[in-house]
Amino acid sequence: MNICKNCQNKFSGNYCNNCGEKIISDEDFSITNILSQAVGAITNFDSKLLRTFQIMGNNPGILSSKIVSGIRVPFLKPFQIFVICNVLFFIFLSDTDLFRTPAKWFFNENFQYFGTTVIDKVSIIMRKENLSFTEVQSKYDSISSNLSKSLLIILIPFIASIGIMIKRNLQFGKHLILATIYFSQLLLCTTILYLITTNLPVPNKWFFTVPAVLVAIAYYVLSIKKFYNKSLLFSIAFGIFGIFLIGIFINFYRSLINIISLSLL
Ligand SMILES: [Zn+2]
Repeated sequence: MNICKNCQNKFSGNYCNNCGEKIISDEDFSITNILSQAVGAITNFDSKLLRTFQIMGNNPGILSSKIVSGIRVPFLKPFQIFVICNVLFFIFLSDTDLFRTPAKWFFNENFQYFGTTVIDKVSIIMRKENLSFTEVQSKYDSISSNLSKSLLIILIPFIASIGIMIKRNLQFGKHLILATIYFSQLLLCTTILYLITTNLPVPNKWFFTVPAVLVAIAYYVLSIKKFYNKSLLFSIAFGIFGIFLIGIFINFYRSLINIISLSLL
């Protein structure tokens, strides 16, 4: 019988069954052991990363099913996956402005801002802060591009809520797992497509937009089919409807980012 040094739980074996702490010996502090731990930490992360992204790319919906059914150790955690995809997306697509409206389009009388127009609000800021139009523009652009990167996570519960329409009696946390992984897939696929299409000999924005939407629908259809165990026909119908809703959520998110950024000036 061992007593855990961390939580004082009594247990047998090499690891505490309460907190997971390991029983240590002098052997653990040998140079070879420390070196192999360092190598292990890196290669283990690498192989987890590879395995996770492989299954995400080849079998949409399967990773979420595995995680929900209790197979977690071989893969990265859903939130880790999201953070990696989020960072990659914004490294490579930082100036595509999918999740915000740049000042050159947003600063005009067609956009409303709490009972006034955006351009009126901009003139008020210019007068109050003693800034030029271009100074307000660049200030707004830097705030909104940072915000649009860091708040992306708030879209996940909205995407998860689509799942409630598909399977109402499933725990919301399980819908959240699928939404997190699906949204990560979407960010990753968009990044890869963007990198391919911008390096084509004749770049054309439709070469990016059309496949991006098709991939988004295909991955959502397959995710619904595998994760919620639905027929192909149901999955296709709901997949297209779901992407339509996600489009509305993204639009809403973009307006939110624009308005918050303007009010932070
Ligand atoms: Zn313990």
